[in-house]
Amino acid sequence: MAPTGTASSTSLPAEAQALEKYFVLDKARLNEIVAGFRREFEDGLKNFGRDTAMIPSYCLSVPNGTEIGTFLALDLGGTNLRVCEVKLTGNHDFTVKQQKYKVSEALKHGDAKDLFNYIAESVDAFMTEVGTENGEDEAVHLGFTFSFPVEQTALDKGKLLTWTKGFACKNAIGHDVVKLLQDALDAKHIKVKCSALVNDTVGTLLSRSYQHGPALIGAIFGTGTNGAYIDRVETIEKLGKDAIAESLKGGPDAGEFMVINTEWGAIDNGRHVLPVSPFDNKLDRESINPRKQAFEKMVSGMYLGEIVRNMLLYLIDFSVLFDGHSSSIMNTHYGLDTALVSEVEDAKSDDEVLKVLTKDLGMAKEVIKPADVQIFKWACRMVSSRAASLSACALAAVVLHTGQAQSKGADDTVDIGMDGRCVGFTWLALDFGLINRFLVFSHSVAEFLPHFEERMRAALRLILGDEGEKRIKMGLAKDGSGVGAALCALQAKKAEDASV
Ligand code: BGC
Ligand code: MG
Repeated sequence: MAPTGTASSTSLPAEAQALEKYFVLDKARLNEIVAGFRREFEDGLKNFGRDTAMIPSYCLSVPNGTEIGTFLALDLGGTNLRVCEVKLTGNHDFTVKQQKYKVSEALKHGDAKDLFNYIAESVDAFMTEVGTENGEDEAVHLGFTFSFPVEQTALDKGKLLTWTKGFACKNAIGHDVVKLLQDALDAKHIKVKCSALVNDTVGTLLSRSYQHGPALIGAIFGTGTNGAYIDRVETIEKLGKDAIAESLKGGPDAGEFMVINTEWGAIDNGRHVLPVSPFDNKLDRESINPRKQAFEKMVSGMYLGEIVRNMLLYLIDFSVLFDGHSSSIMNTHYGLDTALVSEVEDAKSDDEVLKVLTKDLGMAKEVIKPADVQIFKWACRMVSSRAASLSACALAAVVLHTGQAQSKGADDTVDIGMDGRCVGFTWLALDFGLINRFLVFSHSVAEFLPHFEERMRAALRLILGDEGEKRIKMGLAKDGSGVGAALCALQAKKAEDASV
């Protein structure tokens, strides 16, 4: 069987051809990667403090689509901050009112207090301007989708382990993020109770199950990447025998299963199995979180453009591309947005690709030979097809870990809900006094990287065989972060109601 991401052209310069070993992954290589991923999953389930944190979410059941209620949801951790009011109408359906708020670079790098004050202000602005359906007196229940690694100790408690995706606020790591939010809300006398803390992948899994029936995995391929899945509580050995026994007996939702947030973005930070190229190493070294999120940096929307840029600069330095010329955009850190990679991959003609080079990347037309256009296309294809193959490795590792690789009967499929939005191309800014409101036309790796699913499936066939791949259903989970947060807030409310 052909390896993924093939079709190296012999017309490529030798310097480029020599790079394919980092990007074209054959069956043996894919299996080696999957085996490495599984080892990290198992290790993270046994031990706290691992990079691949395998975080117990304390979410003990998945919805069946009949859930009803209206909740506030906050979504932080991708491109922007979103405040929503989600109305679960049962019948697998929902409606959402929402508002997006820009999170400035200053807020991402400042003190956590300022970030959480801004979040509280945004919630306040939303409630004043958009309104909520709750009565005047009762505090509104809010589900907080906070898409960073948080070591949870309850549905509404958890300490931030580390920042990812360009965030680096001070005084947040090691702190309970629900408390940070609740304190900021209380200080402003905003009548909202944060009752559930949710990772976006957990939200995606819940939302997919609510809309389409039970799913095994919720995966995000967006600004960052991560996956959550359902495991047996017994498998989470690090919780200890007592906690496991407790979970198996008491509580309204307690039972055999728990959703685990894998934090697979941090897989193989030790670089034992991933096909790390010099371009990945350069990206990592120059990032604000070196030696972290190794897998995420090869897969997610925040980074793919930068890997392509590093490759192009390398070939420029050998004078085998653009006759050795560059441009100031090409020389700028993160100057090549992942949106351009997806535009190139989707281009219907070489002229469109040429336009990306001249208009978006500022390359002088005179230095671009037809062969250079082909090299640019090749680089985009190498980087995005490797991202798809590696994404397949993560999914396959979960499927194998949970023993779902083998068919157990006639109509048994494995369902995977996906979501992901990342930095957009076009920004339309509207200024409303205190808070800047931005409407963002965002794109997502899963939704918009052309060929993403098709390439992921090609890799899954190599790893799981034709039958195994066929059993996997994949689909977008509409608004995983919003609907998932609402579903978790509902779980919290049920538990609260049951205890009074
Ligand atoms: C974070 C995860 C998150 C993922 C997708 C990663 O950088 O560590 O918690 O789920 O991005 O948003
Ligand atoms: Mg998101």
